[in-house]
Amino acid sequence: MIVCKFGGSSLADAGQMKKVRAILESDSKRRIAVVSAPGKRNKEDEKITDLLYQCNALAQKGQSCRPVFNEIVKRFMQIAKELKLDDRELSTMLDSIRVAIDAGRGADYAASRGEYLSAYVMSRFLGWEFIDAADAIVINADSTVNESTYTKLSERIEDGKNYVIPGFYGETEQGVLKTFSRGGSDITGAIVARAVNAELYENWTDVSGIYRADPRIVENAEVIPSMSYKEMRELADVGASVFHEEAIAPVYSSGIPINVKNTNKPEEPGTMILPVAEYKGLSGVSARTGLSRISLRKLMLFKKSGMRHALLTMLHIFGIRPCFSLFGIDSIVWFFETKQASESVCQAMCDRLTKDFGLDTISVDHGYAILGITGQNMDEAVVSAKAVSALTEAGIEVSFVNAGSSDTTILIGVRDEKAKDAVKAVYAELF
Ligand code: ASP
Repeated sequence: MIVCKFGGSSLADAGQMKKVRAILESDSKRRIAVVSAPGKRNKEDEKITDLLYQCNALAQKGQSCRPVFNEIVKRFMQIAKELKLDDRELSTMLDSIRVAIDAGRGADYAASRGEYLSAYVMSRFLGWEFIDAADAIVINADSTVNESTYTKLSERIEDGKNYVIPGFYGETEQGVLKTFSRGGSDITGAIVARAVNAELYENWTDVSGIYRADPRIVENAEVIPSMSYKEMRELADVGASVFHEEAIAPVYSSGIPINVKNTNKPEEPGTMILPVAEYKGLSGVSARTGLSRISLRKLMLFKKSGMRHALLTMLHIFGIRPCFSLFGIDSIVWFFETKQASESVCQAMCDRLTKDFGLDTISVDHGYAILGITGQNMDEAVVSAKAVSALTEAGIEVSFVNAGSSDTTILIGVRDEKAKDAVKAVYAELF
């Protein structure tokens, strides 16, 4: 069996939904479709999920969500009309969702309705059975999947039947509706693939796979034919965002292959993500931008055990979750997403750390990016030397080089405003 997940752009309107049906009907092994909420039809358009978050924000302020919700109604009713579906039930559903949002059911409930309605419409259009994710997917407080999900789901899926399941949400053990992080329908697809022990998990998007570099930066960038789970996670971590990096976890132990494909060009092979990659060489380069840096120093910093943990706990209290760290004998450098803390929060955090830990110095500065080069069995010394010399030749200052903390990725610190040039220079040198 093949489990297919379709992203928002693949379901943006009735025309896209027809493409999805053609894809599903062209192979009888494609028996389960996991769907996102309708996405943007064009650059200026809004995603249904974004509109739903806006509806919730209005309701939380005590205002009616109706003006924004009407946009959602229009989109779904137009889809139903173009697909020639009976829209009476849909209309009643939309009404009760609006009432529930206005009554303050909260952000997760509101956001989840995009996937719910999308799956409902697709199940009618395909004539496939609808399974509500709230009845089958159990999400833990830390947003991981509860193991009971796999039994629940596999018990629901019967031989010879086809299903549509909404992505992005489930329920907690206490029966409260909960979403994954944004883009989380990829995670649902992976959960379903594992539950039914699928031979393949197809992830349908609006691009022809995962590119070796962002094609908006490197015009002639190639699609990566195949890469390992590990490389995919690490490339996603440095900004290549086609496939949700958390979606590897559910399929990790069963080793189900993932094929990222293009709904608009289904004949193209896309990218295969496999438990282990079969080649030797580089797969991609990407840069994660919008980072800030905390640098702190204290004589004999690591002499006292548990120091690093205590410092990190304090950062978490201020809402800062570092994504990368470097250590010296008496110093630590942490990088974190700038949007996690305002200037005043950074100042308060520095004051508190200095007071509580008796630091010699601490500072926060902004405008960093981390460039990642991923590959399989690469000669790290050679690759990093070539990358650094290409960057230097292009006049790009390097703030650190990290090779060896992962056997599939080399990380290089650069200034944020140079990130695109850095990707271009490294691509031209290495790929
Ligand atoms: N609709 C949700 C989002 O926009 C989840 C998804 O599409 O995967 O983030």
